[in-house]
Amino acid sequence: MPELPEVEVVRRGLERWVAGRTVTEVEVLHPRAVRRHPAGGADFASRLKGQRFEVARRRGKYLWLPLADTGTSVLGHLGMSGQLLVQPEDAADEKHLRIRIRFDDATGTELRFVDQRTFGGLSLHDQTPDGLPDVIAHIARDPLDPEFDEAAFHRALRLRRTTVKRALLDQSLISGVGNIYADEALWRSRLHYDRPTATLTRPRSAELLGHARDVMNEALAVGGTSFDSLYVNVNGESGYFDRSLDAYGREDEPCRRCGTPMRRRPWMNRSSYFCPRCQRPPRPSA
Ligand SMILES: [Zn+2]
Repeated sequence: MPELPEVEVVRRGLERWVAGRTVTEVEVLHPRAVRRHPAGGADFASRLKGQRFEVARRRGKYLWLPLADTGTSVLGHLGMSGQLLVQPEDAADEKHLRIRIRFDDATGTELRFVDQRTFGGLSLHDQTPDGLPDVIAHIARDPLDPEFDEAAFHRALRLRRTTVKRALLDQSLISGVGNIYADEALWRSRLHYDRPTATLTRPRSAELLGHARDVMNEALAVGGTSFDSLYVNVNGESGYFDRSLDAYGREDEPCRRCGTPMRRRPWMNRSSYFCPRCQRPPRPSA
């Protein structure tokens, strides 16, 4: 499943290859790929025709292409296996090609949405005054966003009766931190995932946020990861970063800080990986 750094790579690809181009034709090849567009594939296609894409934007793992002068955006859901590919018009169709978008220029390339498992798709939405598709208006800024409000994040942590990993995955507090990066940021911060957020001091929450930012920026610098060979970035290269992870997926391997075998615990239908020595569980409250 694409994480924030992979989605950012796709966004950059769209910025480079698709921004400023005007749509001439949209072909919806599978109805599931437009199921979040309730008016259906024909409506989606006709409303895009003649519109010009602006620079792609991202918040957390959400990616969208604003349509110039319309107050609307095409929201892309990559789901588990979705890919946005810019391909030569004469390139053979991918086996799981779901949507094709053609342009009016002479660059000879088209935008393709390819998705084997069809959990992803494209849909058209009105924008909020901030320029967000209305369906994601409630999504908080992500830690790579220069306008992320650190003080407000800390206040929210102190006020909520929740635990630190739940807070990191709460999209109304902070977006784009998935299970993998949450475990990495917690390991770097030496925090147990069940630590109550109300016990975090301001310096501790600032440190945690800094580590979340660092792990994502490091992944971005490497350029992708390969958990899932299905995912390819906008140029058709493998887009998953070769993540070097310190916590996630390292059950029974030695902690890179203290050598203690790492542990895995079931956590909210997922897993949490942690070092039992560096990340002590919170003391049970009386
Ligand atoms: Zn350790």
